Amino acid sequence: MQALVLKERDKIVFEDFAEQESFTPDDVRIAIKDVGICGSDLHYYKHGRIGDYVVERPMVLGHEASGVLLEVGSRVKHLKAGDRVCMEPGIPSPGSPSTLAGLYNLDPAVRFWATPPVHGCMRETVVHPAAFTFKLPENVSYEEGALVEPLAIGVYSANTATIQPGDTALVFGAGTIGIVTALSALASGCSKVILTDIKERKLQIVKANFSDNIICVNSAKESLDDVVSSLASEGVDIVFEASGSPAVIGSFVRYLRPNGRAVMIGMPPAPAPFDLVAAQWKEIKILNIFRYRNMYPRAIKMISSGTLKVRPLITHYFDFVDAIKAMDFAATMPADAIKVMVRM
Ligand code: ZN
Repeated sequence: MQALVLKERDKIVFEDFAEQESFTPDDVRIAIKDVGICGSDLHYYKHGRIGDYVVERPMVLGHEASGVLLEVGSRVKHLKAGDRVCMEPGIPSPGSPSTLAGLYNLDPAVRFWATPPVHGCMRETVVHPAAFTFKLPENVSYEEGALVEPLAIGVYSANTATIQPGDTALVFGAGTIGIVTALSALASGCSKVILTDIKERKLQIVKANFSDNIICVNSAKESLDDVVSSLASEGVDIVFEASGSPAVIGSFVRYLRPNGRAVMIGMPPAPAPFDLVAAQWKEIKILNIFRYRNMYPRAIKMISSGTLKVRPLITHYFDFVDAIKAMDFAATMPADAIKVMVRM
């Protein structure tokens, strides 16, 4: 089968994927339909590594996917061939202490698609555990199914923030993750969410497609301080840091009210300075998240019910034959691109 393979840093090719995948009675075989290109795919493509994860041998890219079931294992009860599904890309070891403690995303041995050395899903078919495969309701499309992966991070962030009705939140970064976090925070009870970035076009896309209760601030042009103090005199209840910018990490505490919460989502490229004393004065609660756990069913239900409309996040489509073009396009970080989707 054809696969999009990262051979080494800066080199992607179409290649026959000939590795034999084991198929247990608890697995399903999926024909992949849509795959979203993620910042991490681009990072491995352009830098060959993310932190300690280094591309040392060829790896299939892609981890945000939907598909249709071709075959289900003999022990699989909740799915059948022909079902439309989306897949959670991280598979923990079932017996690890973290998994047994209910923290399966933190299992150090988790195998996550397109995180070296694990192959991703930009290929014709994939074998996957049924337990991490979720049926899509009829009114949820394949492309929305592929968006469940990033959406799960937004829903998990909102969940981690323990939002109270009427809270005001401030989200840094208007990429896919920042936007799904803003949408999830509103859906979880925030009255207003300030979304800030310096990329005007992305903010315009948000303004044109989403609720007026998301207040877009281009911090290169207008004063974020003024917007925050006009909406929340003592500061916002929650900051969601989804930019990974060291400058933001060094300064976000000033926007929080005393005893406010900060959810750290973005990953800075290197250790970033943080003013601990400023956070101590306000007794700020810093909450870290890593990917998500147990969020797929919630995210799917929120799309299906119309609570979360994620479709406008997809700004560009490419066919699988043009997947290299799609990667090169996304890697230039075009101002008007949010999610680039590859159709298999
Ligand atoms: Zn992703």
